[in-house]
Amino acid sequence: MKESDIVVVGGGPCGSFSAMAAAKQGANVSLLEEHGEIGTPAHCAGHISIHGLRTLGLEIPNTMIENKISMAKFHSPSGKTICIDCKRPVTYVINRTLFDRYLAELSARVGVSYIHGVNVKSLWIDSNQIKGVCVDGENLSKIEAKVVIDAEGASASLLRKASLPALTRTACVTGVQGYAAMVSDVDLESVEIYVGRDYAPGFFAWIIPRQDRSAKIGLATNKGNPRVLLERFCRKHPIASKKIVGPLSDVSFHPIPLGGPPSRTYGNGLIAVGDAASQVKPTTGGGVVFGLACSKIAGNTAAEAIRTGDNSSKFLSKYQMLWKESLGKEFKMGRMTRLFLTGLSDRAVDRIFSIGRMFHVEDSIGDVSEIDFQERILQSSLTKPNVALALLCSLFSCLLP
Ligand SMILES: Cc1cc2nc3c(=O)[nH]c(=O)nc-3n(C[C@H](O)[C@H](O)[C@H](O)COP(=O)(O)OP(=O)(O)OC[C@H]3O[C@@H](n4cnc5c(N)ncnc54)[C@H](O)[C@@H]3O)c2cc1C
Repeated sequence: MKESDIVVVGGGPCGSFSAMAAAKQGANVSLLEEHGEIGTPAHCAGHISIHGLRTLGLEIPNTMIENKISMAKFHSPSGKTICIDCKRPVTYVINRTLFDRYLAELSARVGVSYIHGVNVKSLWIDSNQIKGVCVDGENLSKIEAKVVIDAEGASASLLRKASLPALTRTACVTGVQGYAAMVSDVDLESVEIYVGRDYAPGFFAWIIPRQDRSAKIGLATNKGNPRVLLERFCRKHPIASKKIVGPLSDVSFHPIPLGGPPSRTYGNGLIAVGDAASQVKPTTGGGVVFGLACSKIAGNTAAEAIRTGDNSSKFLSKYQMLWKESLGKEFKMGRMTRLFLTGLSDRAVDRIFSIGRMFHVEDSIGDVSEIDFQERILQSSLTKPNVALALLCSLFSCLLP
């Protein structure tokens, strides 16, 4: 393989999007993906905000949209529900395999070279400067690059090799998801979220319907065996088990980093993006929109480094400065909210649901036009007296045993 200005490791959405941004700026970019094709194996629910995609300049083809969602129904551990109705579609359920392939197609069109079936084993480091990557093969061979973009996902093994702060396992949950051929008594415009330590300790479970009445059923957890928990959720949950018809197919597992980005996401000749840099919303585990937003900045910064001939850590720190400027507060608030939620007992969660219902919170927070920027949503919701009071009462209620 010829030398590239930029080598991107990983052909997930963040790899393709950063490669595309850099190639659009004139850089010579190669992308290395360990699997034989882009988009498989898929492990994502593909629940993505419409506003987020538009902000990124992505008008995705209808063929990959499996459903449009305008409502979210939350179920408490004891079965209380809160339904937030936005009255118009705010999210898409997309086919992640097709989405990843679509992004790869767009990147290839602007000149990115895709190389499939290549596993990057480590970084090629010389005198504290990254010179490229080492890939497997008959002999370990080196591929030279002025900037390496690490988009390898949650495994984040390259960051450790570059001695950068990597994801901590304790900040990860394991996601597990399968497909139900049919769901009954599920509103097709609504996702359903189930919280409770018995079924999804440390996170939540979901039913995400598709237009054809099939659904993605999943959960994430910080303890126990995710497969056993998912089976239990499908068979034993007093509400969900009545809605899920038949066994699940294509069950897959994958870690979800929830700790927010590490203190450094760049080095000499290196930038980390997406799940590799934990650019995931700690509240929901959604990593596509924020990961893509950071990827665009990563691609642009890497291309600028090539143009100016400066791939030093000092220059590439611009990447972190820029993503922090637009998303830093979101990650911080999300991390605090996640810590707070994870610490709540089921009784405390139930009390919060009761308080929310008492103050009719659901009538007041459905008027959102986007769901990504939760810090902003919280701030604007708090201007509504009933929401502010409900939050205050909820915080006090957490002091009760
Ligand atoms: C069960 C589950 C449900 C989810 N649901 C949602 C959701 O509804 N909405 C949402 O926004 N997010 C969701 N997420 C999170 C979302 O899937 C990730 O945030 C997103 O995929 C991150 O994209 P990425 O490009 O950083 O990493 P990935 O999509 O993981 O892609 C990384 C790529 O790098 C390749 N790779 C890894 N190591 C190497 C190597 N050494 N050499 C070469 N290639 C390599 C991998 O094969 C892979 O193709 C979910 C996650 C899980 C686990």
